[in-house]
Parts: sequence; C-alpha cells; structure tokens
Amino acid sequence: MKAELIAPCGMNCNVCSSYLALENETKTKGVKLPYCVGCRPRNKNCSFVKKRCELLGEGKVEFCYECTKFPCDLLKRLASGYEQHYHMNMIDNLRYIKEHGMDKFLEKEQKKWECPQCGGTICCHNGICYSCSLEKMKTKKKRYRWDD
Ligand SMILES: [Zn+2]
Repeated sequence: MKAELIAPCGMNCNVCSSYLALENETKTKGVKLPYCVGCRPRNKNCSFVKKRCELLGEGKVEFCYECTKFPCDLLKRLASGYEQHYHMNMIDNLRYIKEHGMDKFLEKEQKKWECPQCGGTICCHNGICYSCSLEKMKTKKKRYRWDD
C-alpha cells in the first residue's frame, strides 16, 4: 500500500472503490465505476472535510491530527459513518499513524484488507476483491455493498 494514498482525514484511499477501480481498470472489464487517483494525488477539495476546513484547504496540515481541534465535529461525523458502513474509522487510523508511524500503519492495513483468496486488496466500500471477485459487481444494477 502507498503512503501517499493516506488522506489528511485518515481515509485509506488504497482500499477505496474508485481507486481500486482505476488500479484494476474495471471499465475495460465491463464494470463501470468512477475512477479516482486518491484524495491526496487528486488534490481537489474533499466534499466531507476540506471544503469546510481552512487549514486543510490551504494545505497547512498534512494530517488532521496536527490540528488543535482534532478530532473536530466534521471528522467525527465522517469517521462514524465509515465505521458503521465501511469497516474503518479515520480517527482511529490517524491516532495509530501519530503513535506508531506510517510504515507500521501501512503494514497493519495490508493485513487487514488482504484478500484471503488471492492476496489482492479488499475494498472498504463493498467488501469485494477487485482482483478475483469483480464478476460479483456485474450481477447488480446498484452499487455493491458489504451486506449485499
Ligand atoms: Zn482476491
């Protein structure tokens, strides 16, 4: 997993549906998903946090944990939604990075999201491995979710 794909909010873009779609070129395999290079490389205003945070918007912090308001209400809302639906909590991620460093975090994430079948990466948004289980996405009209 790539360190540059850990967003300022603690989101791990390595396991995002849109990043994995790009990396696995799903459009060429008959699965139309939006492509994204990851929050940090994309460097656009994040609709959840960055748009409403001056420090992030102006690039004054690398990670939200550097902020005196950490964890702010915006981040709390985002993290609780992700914890509920996508098996990840950005605030926990950031606390781990702050305490143990990026390398340890990436190691942990690698283990957490590794596909037991093929060693590929499981997507946090839908629980699917894009390397070996992409076929599952073709059977659904709506977006695939963990509980489907
Ligand atoms: Zn797999």
